[in-house]
Amino acid sequence: MPDAPTTAAPTTGGETVQLTGWGRTAPTPATLVPVHGDDDVRAVLARHGSRGVVARGLARSYGDAAQNAGGSVLAMTTADRVLDVDLPAGEIEVEAGISLDRLMNLFVPMGFFVPVTPGTRYVTVGGAIAGDIHGKNHHQAGSFSQHVRWLDLLLADGSVRRVGPDQDPDLFWATAGGMGLTGVILRARVRMKPIESSRLLVDTDRTPNLDALMALLTETDHLYDYSVAWIDCVARGRRMGRSVLTRGRFARRDELPARKQADPLRYSGSVKLSVPDVFPPGLLNAATVAAFNEVWYRKAPKRKRDQLQSIPTFFHPLDGVAHWNRIYGPRGFVQYQFTVPFGQEEAMREALGRISRSGHASFLAVLKRFGEGNPGMLSYPSPGWTLALDIPVVKGLAALLDELDELVVAADGRIYLAKDSRVRPELFERMYPRLEEFRKVRAQVDPDGVFTSDLARRLSL
Ligand SMILES: Cc1cc2nc3c(=O)[nH]c(=O)nc-3n(C[C@H](O)[C@H](O)[C@H](O)COP(=O)(O)OP(=O)(O)OC[C@H]3O[C@@H](n4cnc5c(N)ncnc54)[C@H](O)[C@@H]3O)c2cc1C
Repeated sequence: MPDAPTTAAPTTGGETVQLTGWGRTAPTPATLVPVHGDDDVRAVLARHGSRGVVARGLARSYGDAAQNAGGSVLAMTTADRVLDVDLPAGEIEVEAGISLDRLMNLFVPMGFFVPVTPGTRYVTVGGAIAGDIHGKNHHQAGSFSQHVRWLDLLLADGSVRRVGPDQDPDLFWATAGGMGLTGVILRARVRMKPIESSRLLVDTDRTPNLDALMALLTETDHLYDYSVAWIDCVARGRRMGRSVLTRGRFARRDELPARKQADPLRYSGSVKLSVPDVFPPGLLNAATVAAFNEVWYRKAPKRKRDQLQSIPTFFHPLDGVAHWNRIYGPRGFVQYQFTVPFGQEEAMREALGRISRSGHASFLAVLKRFGEGNPGMLSYPSPGWTLALDIPVVKGLAALLDELDELVVAADGRIYLAKDSRVRPELFERMYPRLEEFRKVRAQVDPDGVFTSDLARRLSL
C-alpha cells in the first residue's frame, strides 16, 4: 500500500531556529527548511550560503551531527512516504524521512519488523543509514546499512545517484555512517525481518560484576538474536559492572498463549507520558542515580526464562515517556559511547572503574557485544565490547571524558559519532583509520564541501 504522490510545491523559505541534538548541549541557529521531495533539496542547494547544508531526521543523535550553525538544515521528516512494498521479498521502498515508529505501525501487523532498531523507534531511515546504527542484534545481523539494497543520494551538484553495496559501493559505504556529509539520502530500499508474532521470548540473567557478564556473553551470546546488558556503573569494587542481561528472540505463533494466537501480530507503540521542560540542573546527582541503580538491580529477577515481552518493552523502554531528555535540565547531558576490541577487556574494566570512581552520575549504562563490522568507512561497530552512558553535564566531566578518550585510543577503540559532542579531532583521526578514504570519496562528490555540519567542522571531517 504505497502512499499517494506528494503534491506540495517546492519549498523556498525556511525559518531560523536554534537546534540541538538529543543531549540538548550546544544549541546553534540555522535556517530549517522542510523537505517534501527532491526539488526542495535542489532549491536549497541552489541558494545555499558559505555555511552549507545538512539533512536532519528526528534529531535523536545526541550531539551536533544534525546542526549547521549559520547555514541550512533540511527537515527530512516531511518526506515520509512508503513508495513500494514487495511482501514476498520482504522489501520496502520508502522516503528517507519516514520513522522506524511508522514502519513498525505499518508492517508489524503484516509480519515484518525493521531489520535493526536502536533503543528508540523515533529515528528516520535516513538517520539510521547516515549513522549506520546498530541494535541489540548486531552480533547476528550487523548494522542498519547492511539491510539496505540501495539508496538514492542527492549530490551537491543536484544530481541523484542510486548506490548500494553492489552499485557504486565506495559512495554507498561512505554514505553508510557518513553522517549526511556525502549528500541527502532521499529514498531507500530496505529488507525487513519476517516475524510470526509481535512478542519476544526473553531470558533475564543478573550478573554480579563485569567479568561475570563478559564471560556469560562470550559463551552464550550466539544463542540469542537480541541481547543487551544494563550495567550499574555506580557500583564499585567486587560489584563493579553488576548488570541485568536481557536476551531474546521473536516468538513463533505456536509459542504464544492460546488467547494471543488469534491475533499474533497485534502491535501498539504509544507514548504514555510527556516530561515538561521545568527541571532544574542537578536533579540527577550521584545520590539519586545510585539509589535508582540499586533499586533497579534488586528488582530484576536473578534468572528468568521465556518471559513474553512486547516490542516496546523489550526494545524501546524509554519511548513511553516523551521528552525524557528534559529531566537532565537546561544544561543537557552527554552520551559517551565507546568500543574496544576483543582482547582489550582490561581497558573496558579500567574505563568502568574510572567512571564509577569519578562520582559522575550515570543512569543505567548499556553494554553490548558487537559482531563483525562492515565496509562503512566511518561505521562505528567493530568486533568487541561497546559501552554507552548518559552523564549530566557538570564541572569536571570534560576532563574525565578526555581521559577516557585516551584510554580508548590506546586500546585501538573508538567513540560513536552519532553520540558525540566533544571528542578532540586528533584523537578521532586515530580512532577511524579509514577517515582519509572517506574524505577522498567526499571530495569527489562534493569538492566544495557544500554538505557540512557543526560536527563536520568540529572534527574537520
Ligand atoms: C534513546 C536513544 C537510544 C538510542 N539507541 C541507539 C542504539 O541502540 N544504537 C544506535 O546505533 N544508535 C542509537 N541512538 C542514536 C540514533 O539511532 C542515531 O543518532 C540516529 O542517527 C538518529 O536518527 P535521526 O533520524 O534522529 O537522525 P538525526 O539525529 O536527525 O541525524 C543524524 C545524522 O544523520 C544525518 N541524516 C539524517 N537524515 C538524513 C538524510 N535523509 N540524508 C542524509 N543524512 C541524513 C544527519 O545529517 C546527521 O548527521 C539512540 C538515540 C536515542 C535518543
